[in-house]
Amino acid sequence: MLFYLVLGKSLANNSLHLKPLMSCSIKKDIELSVLSAVVFAICGAFIIFAYSLGATLLYTDLYKYGLWYLLVSFIAVLVLQDTYFYFIHRIFHQPLIFKWMHYGHHRSGEPTPWSSSAFDLPEAIVQGLFFVGVSFIVPLHFITLVAALITMTLWAVFTHLGFQVFPSSSKSYWIGRWLIGSTHHSMHHHKYKVHYGLYFTFWDKLLGTEDPNYENKT
Ligand SMILES: [Zn+2]
Ligand SMILES: [Zn+2]
Repeated sequence: MLFYLVLGKSLANNSLHLKPLMSCSIKKDIELSVLSAVVFAICGAFIIFAYSLGATLLYTDLYKYGLWYLLVSFIAVLVLQDTYFYFIHRIFHQPLIFKWMHYGHHRSGEPTPWSSSAFDLPEAIVQGLFFVGVSFIVPLHFITLVAALITMTLWAVFTHLGFQVFPSSSKSYWIGRWLIGSTHHSMHHHKYKVHYGLYFTFWDKLLGTEDPNYENKT
């Protein structure tokens, strides 16, 4: 809302959109996001239920593994989620399953913050299962889990902004080369066959799915 209604005019030159936005596609994105939110809530309820039975590796004592582990496990979750997302995202783009698993996310054509959580039901389930699985595999403090969920949500809104927030010269810095921003993910929505990552450009660089023009793009 801030970027589209308040700052929209002053940032018009930074827009990454190739076509004008349609309010009907934003409405459809909001509908899919509400559906995804229900799926994520069910996953969250399942995690809490499993925790109450002592079945997960979630913990509440800050000092159980030391304070340093809070940061290490936070970064580990982001790296794991990025890896999980990269590979399932490539599978989602296989022609046989794209239409019923991932089309909803690409329906609007142009990414907007409202498409950041717009997933078809099967995709929402596969995405939600990551945090269910990770709570059984990696010991995580509740603070770390909540921090990862907030990071995921804000990062998704940021990568779907449809505005270039940082100048293109930032890609020549280490941090700009390895972190995914709105320019990087807009190219995925326009071209489909490049940029499958979530947080980091690592897998796209390693497996040759980074657009060769990305680092020169202004
Ligand atoms: Zn996609
Ligand atoms: Zn997207």
